[in-house]
Amino acid sequence: MTQGQTLSPEELAELRERYRLERERRVRPDGTRQYLAADAEFGYYAEDPYAGEAPEREPLRDRVDVAVVGGGFGGILAGARLRQRGVRRVRVIEKGGDFGGTWYWNRYPGIHCDIESHVYLPLLDETGYVPEWKYAPGEEIRRHAVRIAEKFDLYADALFSTAVTSLTWDEETRAWVVATDRGDEFRATYVITATGTLSELKLPGIPGIETFKGHTFHTSRWDYAYTGGTPDGGLTGLADKRVGVVGTGATGIQVIPKLAEDAGHLYVFQRTPSSVDVRANRRTTAQDVGADHDGWARERRDNFLRIVSGEPAEEDLVADRWTASAGLLEKLVPSFRRQGDRAAFEAAYEVADAAKMNEIRARVERIVTDRDTAEKLKPWYRYACKRPTFSDTYLQAFNRDNVTLVDTADTHGIERMTERGVVVGGTEYALDCLIFATGFSVGVSGIHSGRLPVHGRGGVQLLDAWRKEGPRTLHGFTSNGFPNLIQMGTVQSASSVNYTHVLDEHAVHAAALVAAAEAKGAVIEPSREAEDAWIAALAEDAPDHEWFHAECTPGYYNAEGRGRANGPTAYPHGASAFHELLRRWREESMDEILRAGTPVRGQGNSAVS
Ligand code: NDP
Repeated sequence: MTQGQTLSPEELAELRERYRLERERRVRPDGTRQYLAADAEFGYYAEDPYAGEAPEREPLRDRVDVAVVGGGFGGILAGARLRQRGVRRVRVIEKGGDFGGTWYWNRYPGIHCDIESHVYLPLLDETGYVPEWKYAPGEEIRRHAVRIAEKFDLYADALFSTAVTSLTWDEETRAWVVATDRGDEFRATYVITATGTLSELKLPGIPGIETFKGHTFHTSRWDYAYTGGTPDGGLTGLADKRVGVVGTGATGIQVIPKLAEDAGHLYVFQRTPSSVDVRANRRTTAQDVGADHDGWARERRDNFLRIVSGEPAEEDLVADRWTASAGLLEKLVPSFRRQGDRAAFEAAYEVADAAKMNEIRARVERIVTDRDTAEKLKPWYRYACKRPTFSDTYLQAFNRDNVTLVDTADTHGIERMTERGVVVGGTEYALDCLIFATGFSVGVSGIHSGRLPVHGRGGVQLLDAWRKEGPRTLHGFTSNGFPNLIQMGTVQSASSVNYTHVLDEHAVHAAALVAAAEAKGAVIEPSREAEDAWIAALAEDAPDHEWFHAECTPGYYNAEGRGRANGPTAYPHGASAFHELLRRWREESMDEILRAGTPVRGQGNSAVS
C-alpha cells in the first residue's frame, strides 16, 4: 500500500472496507458485559500485594475540614492546593497502603509513563524536582506522589487501606458523615471526591477462567513473589515457566518485552493490535527542558496541553509523537473541525489518518522478521480509535525464539480456559502462569458507579437523582442538593491525555471553592438554574462524534464497539479552553454558588488558618 498522501479514491475505499471487516471480526454481542469485576470469587485479584496486613486502629468519630476520597494524584493535588490556601485539617482516605493511586497499584515490569515526565509529573516548580528521563519509570512517579504528600503534610491525617463506603449530608451539623470499611464515621465540612477513572481492574469473562490450575494475576497487582525481579526486570522466577499474557494495550506493550527477556516461553494472546509508535526515551538535563527559571514546568505543561487540545501554539516544547499526531487525536475538538469546509476537512483528515496508520504498519514490517507475525501485529483502524502506544522494544520482542504471538481475533478473544491453560482456535496452550493485562472498567469508580452511595439533602442519592434526569452539575464539580461536595472527574468537564494536568486544574478549582466558602462563611451549592445553564452550554457545541466511534474497532473508547453516547457529557472545546473558562468564572462569578449559612463546627472557627 502506498503512503496516505498519495492514496487514490479506490485505495481509500479499500482501506475503509478493510477497517470495517477487521471491526466485524472483533465486535461481540455481549459488549461491555464480556468482562468480570474483581469481586466475589474473583476478589483476590484486587487484593493489595504491597501493603501487608493493615495495622489495627480505632474507628474515627472526629471532624475534619476536608475529606478527600482517593489518594492518587487527584487527591494529592487537592490536598496540596488546599494547603496552599491554608486549610488545616485535610484527611485523604485511600484504599491502597500509601499515596500514588494508579502508580501505587501498577508496578509491573517495564512500567513507565508514556507522557513526557516534565509535563506529567505535577508540582515540579513547587517541589524543585527535575526528572532525568523524558519518560519516567513508574517508581519515580510513585515517589514523586509521596514527595508531594510529604511536602504538603498530607500524611498527618491520611487513612490508608481504608475504603469510603458512604457519604451522607447531615443538615444539623452541616457536614458530611464519612463512613468507611474500617468502621469510621467521622464528619467533614467539605468532601472532595478524587476516585479516578480507570481504577477498577477488569478480567475477561473467558469460559472456564475459574478452572485454570496455574498461577494468575492482573498486571495492576504484580506478583513479584512468584516472578522474582523488580519493575526493571530480572524475573528469574519465570526462567523455566510457560507464561501467557492476555492484552496488548498500553500496559501489555510495556510489560511484554520484559516478560520476553526472562520467561522460559512467552505466549502473547492478542485480540486487537495496538498502534505502536517510536518512543525514543532518553536521559534529559535541566537545560534540555528549560528548567532554569520559576514556572518552567507550568509553561511546558501548558504548551503541551494547548497542542494536544488542538489550540495554536508558537512552539512545540515537548516535540514527541503525541504532539506530532495531535491533529489526528483531537479531530473531535470543534476548533479543528471548524477550520474550513466540513466535508473537505473530513476528507483531508481521513487521508492524514491513513498516512499515519500506514507509517505505523510499515514500522511493524520493518522490525518484525517473521512475515506472518508481522501481518498479525498490524493495526487496521483509525488512529484515534484506540489509545496510541509507544515503544522501542515491543515489536522487537516478537523476533525472539521464546515468544509466540497467538492471534485471537477470529474467536473474539480467548475461547476458553482449562485446568492446564488456554484454548484458541481449538488448540490448547499449556501454561504455568497467565497474566491479565486486560485493563480497567470505565466509569465505575467512585460516586458515579453506585459503589459509593452519596446521600445529599433530604437523603436523596446522587445516582438516583441522575438516573431520572441525567448527570446534573455545574462545571462537573458541584451539584444542587449536595452542598460542599466537590467532584473531581470527567463528567461534564474536560479531559486530556495528560491527565495529571487536568487533575491539577481541578484541584486548584476545588481549593478555591473551599477557600471562598470559608471566607464568606457560606455553603457551596449551585442552583438548578446554574446547572441548567451549564448543561445547555455543553449541548450547544456538542460534537457529532458518534459516527466516528461507531466505525471504530471495539475498545473502551467506544463501549466495546457500541459507539459513544452523543450529547453533553463533556466540555466540547477541549481542556485548555475549559481551564481558561474556570479561571474566568472564579474571578467573576464564583459568588453565585456560595449560599448563606456558615457550616456548623464542633469547635474552632474557620478551617483556613
Ligand atoms: P486496555 O483496556 O487498553 O487493554 C486491554 C487489553 O486486553 C486489550 O488489548 C484487549 O483487547 C485485551 N483483552 C481483553 N479481553 C480479552 C480477551 N477476552 N481475549 C484477548 N484479549 C483480551 O488496558 P491497559 O491496561 O493496557 O491500558 C488501560 C489504560 O491505562 C490505557 O489506555 C492508558 O490510558 C492507561 N495506561 C497508561 C500508560 C502510560 O504510559 N501513560 C501505561 C499503561 C496504561 P481488545 O483491544 O481487542 O479489546
